[in-house]
Amino acid sequence: MGPLKGDRSGGTVRGWCPDAWRPMMAGDGLLVRVKPRLGRLTPAQAVALGEAALAHGSGALDLTRRANLQIRGVSEADWPRLLDRLLASGLVDADATREARRNILVSPAWHPGDDSYRIARELDARLDELPALPGKAGFVIDAGPVPMLSAEPGDFRIERGRDGMLQLRADGRSTGIGLAPGGEVTALIDLTRWFMASGGASAGRMARHSAPLPDWATGTAAPVLAAPLPLPGRHAMGAAYGLPFGRVSAQAFLRLAQVSGVAGLRTTPWRILLAEGAGPIEHDGLSIDPHHSLLRADACPGAPDCPQASVETRTLAARLAPHVSGHLHVSGCAKGCAHPAAADVVVTGREGAYDLSFSACAGSPPRHSGLDAADLFAHFGVA
Ligand code: SF4
Repeated sequence: MGPLKGDRSGGTVRGWCPDAWRPMMAGDGLLVRVKPRLGRLTPAQAVALGEAALAHGSGALDLTRRANLQIRGVSEADWPRLLDRLLASGLVDADATREARRNILVSPAWHPGDDSYRIARELDARLDELPALPGKAGFVIDAGPVPMLSAEPGDFRIERGRDGMLQLRADGRSTGIGLAPGGEVTALIDLTRWFMASGGASAGRMARHSAPLPDWATGTAAPVLAAPLPLPGRHAMGAAYGLPFGRVSAQAFLRLAQVSGVAGLRTTPWRILLAEGAGPIEHDGLSIDPHHSLLRADACPGAPDCPQASVETRTLAARLAPHVSGHLHVSGCAKGCAHPAAADVVVTGREGAYDLSFSACAGSPPRHSGLDAADLFAHFGVA
């Protein structure tokens, strides 16, 4: 169990889905996760976050697959000062319990006053009505006319159905039930209560919870297929920037937030940052090239940042990516955190060496095993 409101004694809880109040110890220090409301930072908040990462972390920010931002490498002694800065910027809730519950992935295409905006804000305001859910449980609010988050994980979902109505869908079920306008958040809360009352805690996630849904949550409404994802470059909101491996230096993040005309930064689950209000500009470490080879590559932090890793990952992936056709995944171990699905070329660390497989997931039976970096460079023709 994590700390209660205002309790700063639980800063090193392990195995908990981390946030700013409950950071997780990694190989390089504490990992502190920030969950911007509606996936948006004002320029002032972005500057505050970038400066905090420089002052208290490793000097980089990681964009997660749930559109959150992480500071790594924080010392236990420094964490309270970092938390104070994040609280002052409004990026973290003053109530640790509310912060833990605020796992809301919102369509990055929202506009003020639209359905995604309205529902996400209401859910944020009603977090106290939720039961104590498993740590990794989360919400998806994808209520725009063209859904974007159909492929993103989330246990309790509001989506646009093919009939144009909003629907409630439990993750793992292919269809949902249409909702009356204005009743979306109440239906979400009711579904979380049913989940807990029907034994969902032991399953941990809705997709693994096999209990039949109650009639009021069972429907035949199919969600609309997702729209194509944004690519780096010019974007309807301004500019889309690709983050190789989901990481950006705090300096580059700061510079982006301070570009004249940038009205805010939006996070996405696709390693893309959207800058509102200004066209694309070249920044070190932020790609505006939709064909950049590193945007076809996934690599987890690997060694030494993750204690489960026995091999380095990202430097290797950066060398290999231009020479690999298709999607490359370099994983520090068989867990495959950076890309749970299959990739065209998969390199998995095991006992200090690399396994190589093709059209597979991390940890799949390898085609070649016991390789070092030089073997891989030779295999893919890296000079
Ligand atoms: S895949 Fe393994 S090494 Fe990489 S981050 Fe996950 S647990 Fe750590």
